[in-house]
Amino acid sequence: MNFHILTLFPEMVIGGLGVSITGRAMEKGVITVNAVNIRDYSKDKHRHVDDAPYGGGAGMVMQPGPVVDAYEDLCGRLLKRPRVIYMTPQGKVFNQKIAQELAKEEDLVFLCGHYEGIDERALELICTDFLSVGDYVLTGGELPAMVMIDCISRLIPGVLNNEVSAEVESFHDNLLEYPQYTRPEIYREMPVPPVLLSGHHKNIQEWRRQQSIRRTLERRPDLLEGAELSRKEEEYLEGLRRESQESEEMSECKEDE
Ligand code: SAM
Repeated sequence: MNFHILTLFPEMVIGGLGVSITGRAMEKGVITVNAVNIRDYSKDKHRHVDDAPYGGGAGMVMQPGPVVDAYEDLCGRLLKRPRVIYMTPQGKVFNQKIAQELAKEEDLVFLCGHYEGIDERALELICTDFLSVGDYVLTGGELPAMVMIDCISRLIPGVLNNEVSAEVESFHDNLLEYPQYTRPEIYREMPVPPVLLSGHHKNIQEWRRQQSIRRTLERRPDLLEGAELSRKEEEYLEGLRRESQESEEMSECKEDE
């Protein structure tokens, strides 16, 4: 997978992605990260890439010329026109499902805005997707691009040492991951759940599935609607729901007393 990032701050994305797991994936050549400096495409003698907004208002807007030229130049080098994802708080909120879909592409372009954003005409001309990292506003698209590239990279074969690990993590099957433990066996008088020390693979699997269901119910019940559960697991979930309803009713009774 080849990631191309159109940015005014190439050192930021290369610095952030060039370490740890993504850094090693780059060294192995499983992914490439190519940061294109939009400023290199400025025709201004001071290398300006932004100007005041037409119609007035605060801040500066990135001009369309350098952005479109940076993309066209990249397309010329690649001999194709890859998907361009604009990082924007106005986009659809990124999630694991979108990451899985994007991981099928060979090349992806991430367009990072700054200041008040990018002239709309550039977006109309080159963008195919509009994605956000959440309902809040950041100063630039570099951190969102790094978040998405990190997440997509983990789904590319060869990036993680343990291929299975991306498959059983949170959001797989619309369930959050079960709690994890490592050495020591007892920490501050808190023992590791005995089933994990039993060596009984089937029981461990069952315990983990149940913990995933319990955790998802407690923390992200909205996900459960899309979860694929066996009949036994459905019954377990129903039991948990009854338990939590009963304890709510008990605490309401106590408050009334
Ligand atoms: N004026 C813009 C608006 O209200 O939609 C926000 C501009 S923001 C200060 C500057 C840049 O940061 C944006 O062009 C975008 O690339 C990036 N950005 C900010 N928040 C983001 C978010 N939640 N998700 C993705 N990108 C974001």
